[in-house]
Amino acid sequence: MLTHPYAAFNQLEYDTTIRRCKTRPVKVGNVTIGGGHPVVVQSMINEDTLNIEGSVNAIRHLHEIGCEIVRVTVPSMAHAKALEGIKQELRQTYEDVPIVADVHHNGMKIALEVAKHIEKVRINPGLYVFEKPNSKRTEYTQSEFEEIGEKIGETLKPLIISLRDQGKAMRIGVNHGSLAERILFTYGDTPEGMVESALEFVRICEYLDFRNLVISMKASRVPVMIAAYRLISKRMNELGMDYPLHLGVTEAGDGEYGRIKSTAGIATLLADGIGDTIRVSLTESPEKEIPVCYSILQALGLRKTMVEYTACPSCGRTLFNLEKVLHQVREATKHLTGLDIAVMGCIVNGPGEMADADYGYVGKTPGYISLYRRREEIKKVPEDDGVEELISLIKADGLWVDP
Ligand code: SF4
Repeated sequence: MLTHPYAAFNQLEYDTTIRRCKTRPVKVGNVTIGGGHPVVVQSMINEDTLNIEGSVNAIRHLHEIGCEIVRVTVPSMAHAKALEGIKQELRQTYEDVPIVADVHHNGMKIALEVAKHIEKVRINPGLYVFEKPNSKRTEYTQSEFEEIGEKIGETLKPLIISLRDQGKAMRIGVNHGSLAERILFTYGDTPEGMVESALEFVRICEYLDFRNLVISMKASRVPVMIAAYRLISKRMNELGMDYPLHLGVTEAGDGEYGRIKSTAGIATLLADGIGDTIRVSLTESPEKEIPVCYSILQALGLRKTMVEYTACPSCGRTLFNLEKVLHQVREATKHLTGLDIAVMGCIVNGPGEMADADYGYVGKTPGYISLYRRREEIKKVPEDDGVEELISLIKADGLWVDP
């Protein structure tokens, strides 16, 4: 007999609250990732960090529009040293924005310099390669695998100790596209390979008693990325680990599809309760990434950074130009963060479908609309006065603030 897939749902599964996986809090300067803190928004500047003034301006701009941790790249020792000036300038002219930088194992000296100046270092396990490419090789024996693991541990040790002793953080950032050869030969080009690659580095850190870790499992293909994050979440649970996860889809591209692709990956996992910090990577200027992050978090009810608008799609019953009115209502009220406002085309289905909005603007009869406070109809007014009357109602309730 076929069973309906939802037949087994119990009451708890109908609960509409997203229950986030329990993770340990990891401090990155004055921001905390995990530990039940709001999901943190990240992005990255494009500036050359040798340009201190340009970098400070770019970091400041991203931070002002809501980016809570800013990433930079440090390809050379000169770039690493420049971070000191960037941090100093930020503290003097703005505030101490938490910064994360990528480092490569060939530049351990660079990594140690970087760790002195900023709050978090990102390493990519796939770049910790110690053997020369050998096209004849088809496998790694267990002892070869472990031997390289030991070399990785030795290489990373000074960085781990530096971060540990300063109370700073590390992101173990695995990328599907850059898994090390020995991982590929042993586990394949799979989510399992990505997870094992991360866990190897986690164990090295834990051995040195360093646990300020955040893990990412990025891939450019959304199903791979989702599978890898779900798997590491499950594996950590089995192993008694509780590191926060940084979510992202790499090379998502630009425009509408780039945003949808990022959302498909990030939101799916967040809805599962997986993820403590996110970055939407777009092939556009970095400030374009921040509104997408906030929209994902707002839509899932994880953070409220703007007014939540509900509007019907309109149909033959619609009594006014819905698109135009929604635009007018939004322009008048978009600064009232925290409110839920609905614009519905008719009273037949509108009031019932307003999804418990705080205020409703509903078509009543031709030329007239009704204003609602939650489910209660407050007054009927001519359509031309609708937006003004809505503002008056919000003011009368003491919830209005000037833009
Ligand atoms: S609320 Fe009314 S106007 Fe809007 S889609 Fe539903 S039935 Fe149509």
